[in-house]
Amino acid sequence: MQTKILLNESDMPTHWYNVVADMPNPPAPPLGPDGNPVGPDALAAIFPEALILQEVSAERWIPIPEEVRQALSLWRPSPLYRAHRLEQALGTPAKIYYKNEAVSPAGSHKPNTAIPQAYYNKQAGIRKLSTETGAGQWGCSLSLAGQLFGLEVEVFMVKISYDQKPYRRTMMRTWGAQVHASPTDLTESGRRILAGHPDSEGSLGIAISEAVEVAAQSADTNYALGSVLNHVLLHQTIIGEEAKRQLELAGDYPDMIFAPCGGGSNFGGIAFPFFADKAAGREVRLVAVEPTSCPTLTKGIYAYDYGDAIGLTPLLKMYTLGHDFMPPGIHAGGLRYHGDSALISQLHHEGLVEAVAVPQLETFQAGVLFAQNEGIVPAPESTHAIAAVIREANRCRESGEPKTLLFNLSGHGHFDMSAYDRYFAGELQDYDYPEEAIREALAHLPKVG
Ligand SMILES: *Cc1c(COP(=O)(O)O)cnc(C)c1O
Repeated sequence: MQTKILLNESDMPTHWYNVVADMPNPPAPPLGPDGNPVGPDALAAIFPEALILQEVSAERWIPIPEEVRQALSLWRPSPLYRAHRLEQALGTPAKIYYKNEAVSPAGSHKPNTAIPQAYYNKQAGIRKLSTETGAGQWGCSLSLAGQLFGLEVEVFMVKISYDQKPYRRTMMRTWGAQVHASPTDLTESGRRILAGHPDSEGSLGIAISEAVEVAAQSADTNYALGSVLNHVLLHQTIIGEEAKRQLELAGDYPDMIFAPCGGGSNFGGIAFPFFADKAAGREVRLVAVEPTSCPTLTKGIYAYDYGDAIGLTPLLKMYTLGHDFMPPGIHAGGLRYHGDSALISQLHHEGLVEAVAVPQLETFQAGVLFAQNEGIVPAPESTHAIAAVIREANRCRESGEPKTLLFNLSGHGHFDMSAYDRYFAGELQDYDYPEEAIREALAHLPKVG
């Protein structure tokens, strides 16, 4: 009875998988303020050419540079686990597997893209990267990657997390980064928000505006985004490619795949390599799991919207709650984003990807049950996938179906102990579907076409 299914370093994938090659329709293009598609040139002020080419590529396989594979080998390939104990605790005939992305130095899947982004920027002669971070996972990942490739990193950290997660701050500083609580008075975007809301707790959308502004202003500074964009999802496909090989070794194939979904990168990362099979006719269900308090795919609308709060980014066609939607302060900071990846949004719109929303208390309950059986204390984001898997495993118990379920354990929760504390103290709550706030934000969608 095997628990961990491991690959050798030499089995690490040599190429990323680009889902665009297998999508039934080409991706909807990003639009500029004038409503016309933005060419790759418009992105050149903040991204290196190699990443822009990946952003618009339709090639199925894109080679992973050797230097990137070397850096990734610090923790990859990551282990695939069979959750024997959780299965037993649930009394389910389902087989539950999880890919453990918590083993990276930063504690999540995010270094899978931070590493190649830092590499390509370094190659392009860039000196510094600016970025935003919500819960701190992305800021840590980029700080680590900047350190490994010799780039300065400046992080705008959402203020509520800056205050709640001092140790994430310290981790970024350990890896040499400069960290600010956003909104700041260092940027025009930050000053605009502070003028209207001096006590703003910040949001990912605001922090993105600040980081993009910093990058757009200096030639030697670029911006790096930890999710949403096509090239980010591309880099994360190494997760699903490994998982596929590991399941093959275990002699299994998933009926359903689950991952938490904020901007969509770890979900795309684990699901897309299996989408290739789905496109070829194989039966596999891909389920994105989001919080009921920020229900982008399940309650948002499919429309062109800005990626940030202020409107500095190109317009992306995606499921959105409105770029100025302010999600409730739930503890899964990485899932508090108003929009979603354009690729995942399009696949969801076409009925090829499913989505479910789970309330906060159920996710913590699932996280604790997982920790008590499997040992690992999951990140509050990851507990969303666990909760959805538990729902499905319970359905299998009722129906007697021995389904094979796979989920992505996107990170550990070692920096989220105060959230667990509040859960144990009975201080956490479920937020009702924030219908009023969403309706208001949707009224501010940019007009296109
Ligand atoms: C950032 C993060 C997420 C959500 O981001 P995606 O881009 O949707 O993957 C999920 N889990 C963890 C642990 C994270 O750090």
